[in-house]
Amino acid sequence: MEQEKDYRMVSPDFASQEDESEASLRPKTLHDYIGQDKVKENLRVYIDAAVARGEPLDHVLLYGPPGLGKTTLAGIIANSLGVQIRITSGPAIEKPGDLAALLTNLNDGDVLFIDEIHRLSRSVEEVLYPAMEDSAIDIIIGKGPAARSIRLDLKRFTLVGATTRAGQLSAPLRDRFGVLLRLELYTPQQLAAIVGRSAKILGIEIDPDGALEVASRSRGTPRIANRLLRRTRDFAQVMGSDIITEKEARYALDRMEIDELGLDNIDRLLLTTMIEHYKGGPVGLETIAAAIGEEAVTIEDVYEPYLMQIGFLGRTPRGRVVTRAAYSHLGIPVEGQQTIY
Ligand code: ADP
Repeated sequence: MEQEKDYRMVSPDFASQEDESEASLRPKTLHDYIGQDKVKENLRVYIDAAVARGEPLDHVLLYGPPGLGKTTLAGIIANSLGVQIRITSGPAIEKPGDLAALLTNLNDGDVLFIDEIHRLSRSVEEVLYPAMEDSAIDIIIGKGPAARSIRLDLKRFTLVGATTRAGQLSAPLRDRFGVLLRLELYTPQQLAAIVGRSAKILGIEIDPDGALEVASRSRGTPRIANRLLRRTRDFAQVMGSDIITEKEARYALDRMEIDELGLDNIDRLLLTTMIEHYKGGPVGLETIAAAIGEEAVTIEDVYEPYLMQIGFLGRTPRGRVVTRAAYSHLGIPVEGQQTIY
């Protein structure tokens, strides 16, 4: 199972070494950032207003499944404001002092990007409150009864936090963000545009049908689309084609065992386990997790959003249910099941 996870082609997590080169694929301006129209329109207003007032942008919380463009958007925000960006993540900031060091090193107006912000420890989080509210941190000097706290002023800055689910954030932290933006899964057409753009940057020839084929199997996620584009190029090369058309794309994706809807072995395992062992549900998240050997949070963040988006999985108060559409996609008859949704 471990191995399977490591090699999961459709994992939206930042994974392989190759993904590191994704920096070159990152759009630098809102104009080049494809899709997420609502988010872009609002962000443009907030950025323009902040620039016109000569003030830093209010703190921004970006939330949505992994690989949808949160880090990219943070970079675009800094770029549009004409300031530097510092990138870190919740688990990387171990002690309050680590965060204090980061904060005191920021220049006026800079963006501090904290990925996986829900994973900050409580003591680190407490340093953030006065920093976000008053651009200041409280430092304790001395020990025991002689200890006293002094306030240190910081430069004004914009915190951009990213999380897979806003609900995981503590209320005091969430309330200190002035701008909350939710990123949605992309449509195949938007992903096809992203694939076309990436192909141009990477010097890969792909026609519109090829791009759409890769896009429609990418689970609504740009990071997956870019990865599948690279792997498809490998297959095309071995087939002796210097252009990716629908034929090359289909062949490559079939070889990678990613079906027409972008489902891989683990998605199919999840659905068939629910069908075969739990009559299609309702079944609790923890039970599904234990049955297929995945973490419940991984199922919730990574697998479910897409399976729900395509209408294969539903949520009821009593647990998750497999829908009729999923039975039909998997070619499993619905007779003998409990309630069918
Ligand atoms: P997240 O931080 O949400 O995990 P990233 O910002 O790292 O996601 O995005 C992953 C990859 O997807 C990046 O390499 C970027 O090039 C690409 N990408 C994400 N969103 C877009 C978009 N709207 N337009 C074009 N490319 C995008």
